[in-house]
Amino acid sequence: MNEIVRFARSSSHSVSLETLPSQLDIEHSFREVLRWIGEDPDRDGLRETPARLVRAFQEYFSGYRQDPELILQKTFEETDGYDEMVVLRGVPFESHCEHHVAPIIGHAWVAYVPNSRVVGISKLARVVEAYAKRLQIQERLTAQIANTIEKVLKPQGVAVVIKAAHHCMSSRGVHVHGTDLVTSRMLGCFRDNPMTRQEFMVMVHSGGEQ
Ligand SMILES: [Zn+2]
Repeated sequence: MNEIVRFARSSSHSVSLETLPSQLDIEHSFREVLRWIGEDPDRDGLRETPARLVRAFQEYFSGYRQDPELILQKTFEETDGYDEMVVLRGVPFESHCEHHVAPIIGHAWVAYVPNSRVVGISKLARVVEAYAKRLQIQERLTAQIANTIEKVLKPQGVAVVIKAAHHCMSSRGVHVHGTDLVTSRMLGCFRDNPMTRQEFMVMVHSGGEQ
């Protein structure tokens, strides 16, 4: 609960705590959904499902309880002048589309050229996760990751490429399978210097998906 209170205070679209339903309210709502699709929520296999769904939602949307700027605060400055590209390749993530709450499953390539401050490599992956574990569209996910790294680390440049499959296209609507959406955001030297951008894109195209 403390974490939720903290987030509600720091969030730009802040949520009034008095209006937040309780976990039991949400379990009841999921039970109603089960009835509405034609199920019997009291049968053995479904009795625990509303509670399981609540826990699943807490995991899917745990990013709302994380502050991506805070994750990047701890930096290292003793880099002996290292000013070459740092690239984290093929970070796997799971997100959900904000239109259908359908899974978006993909990988992110994150690069920056430091100015003087570098950050632990696992922190970049945590920023990807903090934004992915929210309701998203891929374009905004891409921009948020790049903008946050730029804002906190103030590097010479940032590049983010995301490739992802959208289940709202494969399991509903147009039922298209096997397609990827690719989005990118280039800032600073990645935007201004074609050589730097090219060097990064070669790394993206050479894979890195785990
Ligand atoms: Zn969708």
